[in-house]
Amino acid sequence: MEKYKIAIIGGGPAGMAAAIAIGNTINHWMKEIVLIEKTNLGEKLLLTGGGRANIANSKPIKEQLLKFNEDRNFLKHSFYSFNNEDLLNIFKLKGLKFREEENGKYFPIIGGAQTILKILKEYLNETGVEIKLNNRVESITKEDDYFIIKIKDKNDIVASKVILSTGGKSYPETGSTGDGYKIAKNFKHQISTIKPGLVPFKVNEEELQKLSGIKLEDVEVSFENCENKVRGNILISHFGLSGPAILDLSNYYNNNTAVLIDLIPSMNHYDLNMKIIDDSSSKGKISLKNYLKLHLKNRFISYFLKVIDIDENEKLGNLSKKDRLIIVNNLKQLKINVNGILSYKTAMITCGGVKTNKINPKTMESKLVPGLFFAGELIEPSGLTGGYNLQMAFSTGFLAGKSAAKSFKK
Ligand SMILES: Cc1cc2nc3c(=O)[nH]c(=O)nc-3n(C[C@H](O)[C@H](O)[C@H](O)COP(=O)(O)OP(=O)(O)OC[C@H]3O[C@@H](n4cnc5c(N)ncnc54)[C@H](O)[C@@H]3O)c2cc1C
Repeated sequence: MEKYKIAIIGGGPAGMAAAIAIGNTINHWMKEIVLIEKTNLGEKLLLTGGGRANIANSKPIKEQLLKFNEDRNFLKHSFYSFNNEDLLNIFKLKGLKFREEENGKYFPIIGGAQTILKILKEYLNETGVEIKLNNRVESITKEDDYFIIKIKDKNDIVASKVILSTGGKSYPETGSTGDGYKIAKNFKHQISTIKPGLVPFKVNEEELQKLSGIKLEDVEVSFENCENKVRGNILISHFGLSGPAILDLSNYYNNNTAVLIDLIPSMNHYDLNMKIIDDSSSKGKISLKNYLKLHLKNRFISYFLKVIDIDENEKLGNLSKKDRLIIVNNLKQLKINVNGILSYKTAMITCGGVKTNKINPKTMESKLVPGLFFAGELIEPSGLTGGYNLQMAFSTGFLAGKSAAKSFKK
């Protein structure tokens, strides 16, 4: 049986980060470190940011942590011990430059995700970690001080420490099919409810689907009786609603039946009502259809007025108080009934995962099984769009790697 000091299970960003951190800590031992990957290294990483890899965010760590909807405190230590600057620096050292785009998102200036992966592979080569590709770990057990790792159609291997970084369940063709949850459960770790995250909504409404391709810019979306609101763009598609604001809102989804859209978040209800009253006298001859061009996209106006059952040819000056209030109410809170979220196949992340209460946030080591470490999306916290999920994978991966390597450091 092959014996290793540390076995890393899963070669996504978290697993690769762990291997590099181990290399930085104990590079003379690297021959006894193995990274076991079911498919190829970084398959999902290659898809990130539409291939451009939104790798990190410029916001202060305090603000970054607010982008996670479970146990933000848990991530504090890993984010401070390997922050956004540390993350960019490992690539900058290899000559890659980054550009900051809207909302603090960092992207590589050239090469995108391909270059990020190429550089990570260079680091892995330099560390000398043994990499086993197309090896699927089926189960892990612990006997005395050793972990026995069963690999499909291969011989078992043995390791003193294990870093579990198998990701979630989204985009299963990349290799992330939820195997880590089963392995963690066998070690008595609890798994919180998991669901697709950063995922579009289904809307079985033909009239809306006909507007496929329309972007509603700078709107605010929310659910009824839920305090979380997300401001940004929406994209209407042939299956329903997508776009950054909708993807972020989906992380708060809890079997809600409707999405509420504030189409003009820059103006409050009162001011909007007063503006329409003022405009009714100065622009009274304009039809509602034309007047609303001030606020809404052309094709969306007809849909909007049809949904609220108001004649689009009605002149602004002739609008009754009742109809004006219906318009204002719906501009501020248009209700679109949704028929659930799409599946893991199209979800960017998995919300939920291995519960953090039994993982030491300062080391990523299991509180139940000494020598077992967790990293990346497999763990419970899930982030919004903006580079936070990759940051979490790298930060927790680095911390897990560094902590696992510590006892082997000479
Ligand atoms: C389309 C898309 C776009 C995205 N864009 C962004 C973005 O721009 N910015 C951002 O921050 N985040 C983005 N994300 C999210 C980000 O990709 C993930 O959060 C991140 O990849 C998680 O890293 P990880 O290493 O924890 O897991 P993964 O990347 O899922 O890697 C886990 C690895 O473990 C392997 N594995 C699983 N089971 C086993 C097993 N039994 N044996 C051996 N190996 C196993 C898998 O094959 C996989 O390679 C995007 C996701 C998608 C799908």
